[in-house]
Amino acid sequence: MTDLEAVEILTLDEQMQKELPNLKEVYEVAVRALKKQIPTRPTPYEKYEGKCVCGAVFLDRSTKYCGNCGQALDWSG
Ligand SMILES: [Zn+2]
Repeated sequence: MTDLEAVEILTLDEQMQKELPNLKEVYEVAVRALKKQIPTRPTPYEKYEGKCVCGAVFLDRSTKYCGNCGQALDWSG
């Protein structure tokens, strides 16, 4: 299920949502998308400044969002 499909279902009225068999999957997609907006600290990785949860590496700390998966990044501390 794509993010767009999840949004389309989440904007249906509540009664229509209750009739859908895959509502749990819709919520999982929505939570995954929301988590990308919560800044996450990249992990140290070899010669790079950090590595994203998706595996992408960053050469400097000016990157606010991962260009690969969209994860918001927290470079504080
Ligand atoms: Zn990423």
